[in-house]
Amino acid sequence: MSTETLVENPSNTAESKPAVSTPYNLNEFDTSVMGTYGRFPIALAQGKGCRVWDTEGREYLDFVAGIATCTLGHGHPALVEAVTQQIQTLHHVSNLYYIPQQGELAKWIIEHSCADRVFFCNSGAEANEGAIKLARKYSHKVLGIEKPVILSAKASFHGRTLATITATGQPKYQKNFDPLVPGFQYVPYNNIEALENAIADLDEGNQRVGAIILEALQGEGGVRPGAREYFLELRKICDETGILLILDEVQVGVGRTGKYWGYEHLGIEPDVFTSAKGLAGGIPIGALMCKKFCDIFEPGDHASTFGGNPFACAAALAVNQTLEQENLLQNVQQRGEQLRTQLRAIAAKYPDIFVEVRGWGLINGMELNADIELTSVDIVKAAMAEGLLLVPAGPKVVRFVPPLIVSAEEVNQAAQILERTVGQLAP
Ligand SMILES: *Cc1c(COP(=O)(O)O)cnc(C)c1O
Repeated sequence: MSTETLVENPSNTAESKPAVSTPYNLNEFDTSVMGTYGRFPIALAQGKGCRVWDTEGREYLDFVAGIATCTLGHGHPALVEAVTQQIQTLHHVSNLYYIPQQGELAKWIIEHSCADRVFFCNSGAEANEGAIKLARKYSHKVLGIEKPVILSAKASFHGRTLATITATGQPKYQKNFDPLVPGFQYVPYNNIEALENAIADLDEGNQRVGAIILEALQGEGGVRPGAREYFLELRKICDETGILLILDEVQVGVGRTGKYWGYEHLGIEPDVFTSAKGLAGGIPIGALMCKKFCDIFEPGDHASTFGGNPFACAAALAVNQTLEQENLLQNVQQRGEQLRTQLRAIAAKYPDIFVEVRGWGLINGMELNADIELTSVDIVKAAMAEGLLLVPAGPKVVRFVPPLIVSAEEVNQAAQILERTVGQLAP
């Protein structure tokens, strides 16, 4: 394992531990906040680097990072400085006016991706919603399809609005919310034959496939990387037919995989792609990028009040500039290798529990044996009690998505905690 330290990690400083605990009443919370989440029973009060502390003063190593969102961890000086400076200057004005920070961020994204134009919003679902609207208008105007169909993958995740739960190929997110949005069909991920069949089957009368939306690596669906051969073939099909290729990079974009964008692992470029989670390191933002057909959206077609405000854009610029200046992509690649090696050693020690370790860079999953009772939630809860935060990706996959600044020592420590945890759970 490499011993070089690429990253100055603020979580290793002595002053980072909070002085006092201020216990918080979780029951009171539940009487006032809608019960849409199954929350783990801790409240977090403070963070520094890759560590967080709960309201009882307990310390955790954070391998969740706000669900693959806190790119620079907690309290990173570059992010703190950027948002402090921006809120003191100007934080929101609306898109009635030109916003220099928005223009600068768009330019940065264009220079670091295949994109030609960017639209800003506030979340992943909203970015995908924009992509769906763009795909519909493109299908009508460019392809001349009266009833366009958008294909998406089974086990995918694209968000929680009505259109994005429809695009999400998992019935559990759609249950009780019908009628869903018309014009969506599902195909198995990484299966080119099924895709070709679906495109052929749907070509009937005034109906035809106008777009395909896929994740470069399926995150929520169980940390399943896209297959290069599949995406190469898919790109060819889209070029031949004019079908718009949309990639949802909400979870994997902005360095998470060790490359700036997930599609760089697949040897292709999308026509349209979306970003959100890690883009501003935990400040709400979403972005819709297009490489082709950028003039499909005309004035009045799409909008967001908060979208691309100076505050969020200043945060995103700081995150992305830091990513580059601190050479974090290299850290992501090295720490990812290290983590997978250590997780594979644990999996090999408990072959009855684990079936696979997989991922790219710092998005990794450990898949549990389907035939045993143990679930990902069981492991996450037990690891939390030992001081390590993890997040399930479905009932049988434990996901590891630490901040991209994570150090070699912190990866070692996470692996040690996990090994101890699994040892306690093993029969
Ligand atoms: C999290 C996620 C979304 C939804 O993002 P929100 O900001 O929660 O709306 C969409 N797509 C993917 C791939 C995601 O991981």
